[in-house]
Amino acid sequence: MIDRKIIRRIEKIVGKSNATAEKEDLICYSYDALNLRYLPDLVVFPKNAQEISEILLLANEQRFPVVPRGAGSGLTGGSLPVRGGVVISFERMNRILEIDQENLKAVVEPGVITADFHREVEKVGLFYPPDPASEEFSTLGGNVAECAGGLRAVKYGVTKDYVLGLELILPTGEILTTGVETVKGVVGYDLTKLIVGSEGTLGIITKIILRLLPKPEAKATLRAFFTRGEDALQTASRIIRSRLLPATLEFMDGESLRCVEDYLKIGLPTEAEAMLLIEDDGDPGLLKKNIQRMEEICRGLGTQVELAGDGKEAEDMWRPRKAISPALGRISPRRINEDVTVPRSRMGELIRTVSEICGKYQVRNVNFGHAGDGNIHVNILYDPGNKDELRRAEEAIGEILRAVVEMKGTISGEHGVGVAKAPYLHLELGDQGIAVMKKIKRVFDPNGILNPGKIFP
Ligand SMILES: Cc1cc2nc3c(=O)[nH]c(=O)nc-3n(C[C@H](O)[C@H](O)[C@H](O)COP(=O)(O)OP(=O)(O)OC[C@H]3O[C@@H](n4cnc5c(N)ncnc54)[C@H](O)[C@@H]3O)c2cc1C
Repeated sequence: MIDRKIIRRIEKIVGKSNATAEKEDLICYSYDALNLRYLPDLVVFPKNAQEISEILLLANEQRFPVVPRGAGSGLTGGSLPVRGGVVISFERMNRILEIDQENLKAVVEPGVITADFHREVEKVGLFYPPDPASEEFSTLGGNVAECAGGLRAVKYGVTKDYVLGLELILPTGEILTTGVETVKGVVGYDLTKLIVGSEGTLGIITKIILRLLPKPEAKATLRAFFTRGEDALQTASRIIRSRLLPATLEFMDGESLRCVEDYLKIGLPTEAEAMLLIEDDGDPGLLKKNIQRMEEICRGLGTQVELAGDGKEAEDMWRPRKAISPALGRISPRRINEDVTVPRSRMGELIRTVSEICGKYQVRNVNFGHAGDGNIHVNILYDPGNKDELRRAEEAIGEILRAVVEMKGTISGEHGVGVAKAPYLHLELGDQGIAVMKKIKRVFDPNGILNPGKIFP
């Protein structure tokens, strides 16, 4: 607990109206998309780097935790104040400071909503590819801190591929700038890359320099249904093997299709056991050629293959994929949502293994995700009131994560470690890897005040 004296000192820094300790406000900042709750002692809404720096100096003096928070859409508990303290929220630091059309870059504050940024750069014919499915509510600060992936990662990469530089406040209060405003730059250690994906444990990001691309001229969408999940995954492999790299290559299994159909009632073929949703973009001539080649490949093993015509048809094709989360929420009060990633060539093996493990533990499983990246969202549904089912779900997850590491995969492709994956960290990093990372954390944050209780078990 931080006492009244500390609260008054923080109010002095940010202004009384930009801090709240009211219970009903604290509750709003006590959870994210993981479904755990921890009340902070205070939530503050700073307006610049200087104010955050002063809060961190005070946190080191008085030893209280500080937790940065974007939109709270994280799926692993990264923004939860697990040890109480002060939550720093970025509602007031949400400006796009510059869109530089000549140098193809932008400078933003961390509280900008991802999709708002997409829309703004697209107005001037530019393009920011990272597009997490949460783009309508997640913030760019949260995306950078988690190194968010997205649907277009297969062709365009993930957030780290677009961050040129950062302004951040070190846990000890100093303001540091990293990276460059140029296309290239190799001076010293790459601190920018170290901060991207560090889940708010090494510094608080207050400004982001992002690389932009020219907006692709045209887009095309294709969808195919399959009678076997493995046929869909094999088709995805055939597309990549044919030297085609679509912008998105998404997979939904039969269970998720049926679940979405039950929710939306849009005439999806409920007998299908998988769907691939493919989108590509680029020069109209080349795009037409590539999408036709992908269509032919899909016809090989697919039972129903459709190419979207106008924008409305493409939107309709995307509806099932976008509706999965609410559709699953309807049928099960809780789910464990993993984002394991394996080499693309081993996706069939992953799906078989997950099915065997879920059968062994008698738990209900739904899979969907980014087939083009080998990143599958393995979901296990459970009823929180049923302790035995929860235990079985957790044991199944442990076994799945071990199998993924054996397949030379990773236990998290995009959601990060937070609190949810911390118990499994050793599976992938081993003692040595964890020890080095802990040393890095201590260099940045000797008093352990920034986002404690995250990443490390
Ligand atoms: C429906 C749904 C779909 C999703 N789809 C995707 C997807 O396709 N791809 C994907 O990668 N993720 C996805 N996510 C997960 C989540 O949206 C991302 O991790 C996102 O980047 C989190 O952003 P946020 O603003 O909500 O951050 P928060 O959840 O608030 O915070 C996430 C982490 O970032 C830290 N942080 C936030 N702001 C700062 C800052 N300024 N400085 C330092 N640290 C900071 C926090 O401390 C925390 O550790 C999805 C989530 C949901 C609910």
